[in-house]
Amino acid sequence: MDEVDDSQKAERLYREEALAAKRPVGNPGCVSFTRCAECDEEIPERRRKAIPGCRLCAACQAEQDRNSHFS
Ligand SMILES: [Zn+2]
Repeated sequence: MDEVDDSQKAERLYREEALAAKRPVGNPGCVSFTRCAECDEEIPERRRKAIPGCRLCAACQAEQDRNSHFS
């Protein structure tokens, strides 16, 4: 029975490692940049909290939105 326990433990450990490895540093999905990726302008905390994962300041975001409408 110990064998089963060990393999289950190993599998759980493997899954946890895989999950941890899947989480990249600075994941744009949930971590907001403190500075704009375009102009290096500081992004206000209020904006970072309002838009989880935002990478651009308000001006650059507006510019990008405008450009994306054309494509
Ligand atoms: Zn910017």
